Amino acid sequence: MVTDASGAAALPWLTAPLQRILATQRAHALLLHGPRGVGEFELALLLAQGWLCEAADVPLAARPCRRCASCHLVDARSHPDLMVLLPDALRQRLGWSGGDAEEGGAEKASKAKPSKDIKVEAVRAAVGFVQTTAARGRAKVLVLHPAERMNAIAANALLKTLEEPPGLARFVLCSGDPAALLPTIRSRCQRVALAAPEPAEASAWLAARGVPEPALMLAAAGGQPQEVLAWAEFGIDAALWSRLPGAVTAGDASVLHGWPLPLAVEALHKLCHDALCVATGAAPRYFPAPALRSRGDVARLVAWSRALADLARDAEHPWNVDLAVQAAVQQGREALNPPRIAGAARRTASLNSSR
Ligand SMILES: [Zn+2]
Repeated sequence: MVTDASGAAALPWLTAPLQRILATQRAHALLLHGPRGVGEFELALLLAQGWLCEAADVPLAARPCRRCASCHLVDARSHPDLMVLLPDALRQRLGWSGGDAEEGGAEKASKAKPSKDIKVEAVRAAVGFVQTTAARGRAKVLVLHPAERMNAIAANALLKTLEEPPGLARFVLCSGDPAALLPTIRSRCQRVALAAPEPAEASAWLAARGVPEPALMLAAAGGQPQEVLAWAEFGIDAALWSRLPGAVTAGDASVLHGWPLPLAVEALHKLCHDALCVATGAAPRYFPAPALRSRGDVARLVAWSRALADLARDAEHPWNVDLAVQAAVQQGREALNPPRIAGAARRTASLNSSR
C-alpha cells in the first residue's frame, strides 16, 4: 500500500508508477507531470524514500520498506539527504514549515505574506546541499514542487547542477504545467507522465474517505480525486454542486459565497461548458444531467465563456471577489435562460456594461 511521506493519504494509483520508475529509471533528474491532483509530489517523496531506503532484504522495486531507519527519517521529514523545495505559501499549507530549517527562508517569510514562488536563494541553498557528501551514503535527493514556480533566475541557478550533477545527486521536479518550464530545464530531465486514476479506483478511494456520491464529485472535479477532498474544505459537496446550475440560472450568487475566486470561476466555467453541451445536444461532463434543466442561448454562453476566461486570468489578484462573482453569475443567468427571458434579464445585468 502506497502512502505519502507523512504516512497520511494513501494514493493507490501511484503504486504502479512508483514500482516502474524504481525498477527502470536511471536518469539523475526526473520531471513528473500529470493532471492536477494526481499526486506528483506524493510520488516524488516516495521515490526519494525508495532511493534512500536502506533495507538490504527488499528489492529496489518494492521499496520504500517503510521500516528502516532511513524510511523513518523521511517520514519524520528530517532525513539529512533529502531536501524539499516548496514555495513558502505551499510549505505552510502542507505543514512543512520548520522541516527545512537549514534553508533559512521560513522564518523570514513568516513576517511577510508567504511567497507563491520558489526563490533563487532557496535554489542556491539546494545546489549547495546536493554538492555535500551524502550523510547516509545512499543518495542526495532534491524534490522541487511545483517546478514552474521557479522564475527564470531561480531556474538558471539550478541549470548547471542539473547539467553536471554530483555523483549521488538525484532530482525530482514536479509540475502540473511542464510547458511553463524553461526549455533548458525540461531538456535536462527525463519526463515521466502520470495518468489520472481510473474512475472506479478514484471513486472507491473517495468513498473510503467518507465522501458521499463520490462518482458525482469525481466528475465535478474532472476526474481528480484529491481536488474533491480540497473542495470539501470549502464545504463543496454533491448537494451543493448539484444545486449550482439552478442557482446560477436564477441569478443567485449566494451559493458561491466563501469559495476562493479561482474555484468559483472554475465552477462557473464548467457549468458554461456543460450548458453548451446540452444546448448542442451533447452529454454534460461535470454536472449531473438532471441539474441542467433549462436550454441556454448558445451565443450568450460563448460570450459568458470568454468573460470567465478573462476573469480567470485576473483571479489571482481580484479587484473585488463578491462583485466579480456577482457579475459573472448575472451574465450566467442571461446565458442559461432561454433568449426570451434573457432579453429581459439583460437590461438589469451589469457584467457586459461594466467590462
Ligand atoms: Zn526503508
